[in-house]
Amino acid sequence: MKIAEVIFQGAHSLAQSKTPTLDCELLLAFALGKPRSYLYAWPDHAVDAKSQEIFQQLLNRRKQGEPIAYILGEKEFWSLTFKVTPDTLIPRPETECLVEQVLEHLSQEVPIQVADIGTGSGAIAISLAKERPHWQIHATDISAKALAIARSNAENLGIKNIQFHLGSFCEPLPHGHFSALISNPPYVADDDEDLEASCRDYEPKNALISPENGLQHIRILCEQAPNYLNNNGLLVLEHGSYQARQVAELMQQWGFKDIESYLDCAGLARVCLSHKPG
Ligand code: SAM
Ligand code: GLN
Repeated sequence: MKIAEVIFQGAHSLAQSKTPTLDCELLLAFALGKPRSYLYAWPDHAVDAKSQEIFQQLLNRRKQGEPIAYILGEKEFWSLTFKVTPDTLIPRPETECLVEQVLEHLSQEVPIQVADIGTGSGAIAISLAKERPHWQIHATDISAKALAIARSNAENLGIKNIQFHLGSFCEPLPHGHFSALISNPPYVADDDEDLEASCRDYEPKNALISPENGLQHIRILCEQAPNYLNNNGLLVLEHGSYQARQVAELMQQWGFKDIESYLDCAGLARVCLSHKPG
């Protein structure tokens, strides 16, 4: 079969995906060991039997609902390629909005210390490290396996200004040193019916689900952050699209000031940012 036919037929059989053609292009490019642009350049080339068989196996995994990023073992975030495994959350485009806000709110010039709590694949810490090579970044995670992936992503991307720490919340960090604490913590309630099946079935539960109706991790971060932030330091948290008001209340309760809320690329309230009083 020709490249264009393999994609067409594959996409036709992938009814449950929202992006069947894109999925098939990514899987076929992977099976062929070529970039996606090759498929557009040579739609009439015949796909050899071995590549076709590999494609079919990958397609079957996708049909079961496995996320494309786990099948390919990578995901693009902030125009960088991150290795991902079932031990790491797949970085989301909405988290790029959090990175943008951090960059906008902190001085470009001064060398500062910032921390990313629950770094997963390292998406936030590594994107910030790439943009601000003179910042000293600390990244933590409670999962040793996720932290190993984050370390290897930093190494593959040539990042030198991140220190990684295994442990819960801010606990592995030195007190009182940070200009910003940043986190995309687990914030999904266990009974949230909006959580897509492919996330619930394939992504690590400890990366997604938080007790107290999705807010326990955010509450603990608000509680711990004042001990780790400099005066005037920033607390920047990603949250669920219905949680903005509750997150702002928690920040206020723990003494934070000048609370601002930012929308993600889909227009949903997604990031709360506030200051420790100076
Ligand atoms: N920062 C990554 C991103 O934005 O793609 C991953 C975010 S994921 C939603 C949350 C991460 O927090 C997971 O990697 C999980 O292992 C970690 N985590 C969960 N509970 C934690 C805790 N108590 N302390 C530190 N990290 C925790
Ligand atoms: N944005 C993810 C989702 O709803 C949740 C990630 C998180 O809990 N931080 O699929």
